[in-house]
Amino acid sequence: MIEAQNLTRRYGDFTAVEQISLTVDEGEIVGMLGPNGAGKTTTIRMITGFLPPTEGRVTVGGKDLFADPVGVRGDIGYLPENVALYPEMRVSEYLTYRAMLEGMTRAQAKKRLPETITSCFLEEVEGQIIGTLSKGYRQRVGLAAAILHEPQALVLDEPTVGLDPKQIIAIRELIRELGRERTLLLSTHILPEVELLCDRVIIIDRGRIVAEGTPESLKESWVGATMLRVELKQGTEGVAEILERIRGVSSVKPIDGGRSRFSLECEHASDPREAVFRAAVDNGWTLLELAEERASLEDIFVRLTTREVIEPTAPEPDESADEEVTS
Ligand code: ATP
Repeated sequence: MIEAQNLTRRYGDFTAVEQISLTVDEGEIVGMLGPNGAGKTTTIRMITGFLPPTEGRVTVGGKDLFADPVGVRGDIGYLPENVALYPEMRVSEYLTYRAMLEGMTRAQAKKRLPETITSCFLEEVEGQIIGTLSKGYRQRVGLAAAILHEPQALVLDEPTVGLDPKQIIAIRELIRELGRERTLLLSTHILPEVELLCDRVIIIDRGRIVAEGTPESLKESWVGATMLRVELKQGTEGVAEILERIRGVSSVKPIDGGRSRFSLECEHASDPREAVFRAAVDNGWTLLELAEERASLEDIFVRLTTREVIEPTAPEPDESADEEVTS
């Protein structure tokens, strides 16, 4: 449904996005995950036609963004990071205005509005002045504006940023609901968000894709050696040496330097848990814990995006470069 090929964006000598290629299949929810400044917004703005790429191309539903920007815009609903709403307008007035900007007649807008208001759970506030709404409700208005023209694909830039935890839960539920019938690409720097919402995740760092897959497949491919956590009621001398001799255990590290808690690194494809249990029985140790430690998506994310050197910073914003492609 959405296909981006070799998208690159340079600002002077600084490359904000470099050769990013991605696809989002029909009905899929894909999360673009990256730390601040990774290039998520830049990529999204190129995909939605709000920023011309230095190189690369984008197609949506088979239409080329640069050959048919109006057609592509009809297929995409876009929620920018900072939604520009008119605070003095009422919710329904604003949505009617947006519908007409999308090319609908007043009659078409009137027909489409109730459905949009219902699907974004805005019934209670449709007559309210936007400036008096909570941030969570304002975000819903932004989402409603993005789906008014019934796009097949939705692109959301950091949809939960700046919301409180309760609002975050509500917006995530709404996104999940909207994603049932639509293709969805969303950016976030919040890890649980991709685990909760997305079928697939693309991790971006310093303008490049550094990993891609389902949250599960990423965990499997980046997990490295299996680790076991062992805790004994009372550690005695020589425990580490005994654990080290167990078949399938490649190394033993005491946790916090003590004698009763250990982290065991295991050889590839081995599962020495039973042998550890037997060693405990044979040596009269009381085993309090014997657990496999699996890498979390967070471990992988941190490993992939932690900068060990101080990176050169980007130049001053070049506003003139931010012209829309689809004007
Ligand atoms: P955040 O989560 O903080 O929004 P992001 O992943 O969306 O980050 P981008 O906003 O795409 O990151 O920015 C990527 C890089 O490009 C950053 O280093 C940013 O400073 C730089 N950049 C973005 N816009 C411009 C511009 N107009 N001129 C110069 N540099 C820019």
